[in-house]
Amino acid sequence: MTDQNKGAVAGRLPGSIGVRPATSARTAASPSPALLEQLHHYRYPVRRRLQCCFFWTSNALKNNAPAYVAAANARLDEHNLVLDICPGVEKTAAHTVTFNELVNTSHEEELRNLVHKAHDHEGRIPVIFCRFAGALGGDSDTLGYLVRLENWLPFILINADKDSADGVTLLHEIGHASGCGHEQSAKGDLYPNFMSYPPPPRTGILRKQVIRLARSYFARDA
Ligand SMILES: [Zn+2]
Ligand SMILES: [Zn+2]
Repeated sequence: MTDQNKGAVAGRLPGSIGVRPATSARTAASPSPALLEQLHHYRYPVRRRLQCCFFWTSNALKNNAPAYVAAANARLDEHNLVLDICPGVEKTAAHTVTFNELVNTSHEEELRNLVHKAHDHEGRIPVIFCRFAGALGGDSDTLGYLVRLENWLPFILINADKDSADGVTLLHEIGHASGCGHEQSAKGDLYPNFMSYPPPPRTGILRKQVIRLARSYFARDA
């Protein structure tokens, strides 16, 4: 296995980015309501756009982009963040790449090269809506995933054929791309958030996560 492949696989596996133990007892009764309020409802001081460039493969017939963007923005807004999508949530010819296979990990580099040729949009994270193959498509963890390749900034593949129950998949992968790891969740968790693992619940964005999103490579002032 080449280093490049190792990177791709490491970026894909659920938990590989780090299911980290909580730094405090997440179910303890200790935090004050005021502290919980601060952690859950932190508003970034300036409005930041999280810039994405969407692409579709030619064989992606369904489009779950509108639902994913609506779900993400519903959660981001109170934190002074918003998705900024080029060209928008509807599939356009200019943002469709000719690709008719079912995607597996061996296709990641090819897809990244294809979208680079279609629209090289610096400062935006590419999100590619495509059809996942067998092992990828048959598993609920593979509604989408973050790809890390040697020569590219992290980018996202979304399974166009499946809908996520809570609609948070795209935002969750954007979280990974900005450096957020999984947050181990347990019954009675006082800090449920969009990186909770295993899901559900994936509601809310914690203060430290808002800051990571706002400082990601694809974030700009609104
Ligand atoms: Zn994840
Ligand atoms: Zn673009």
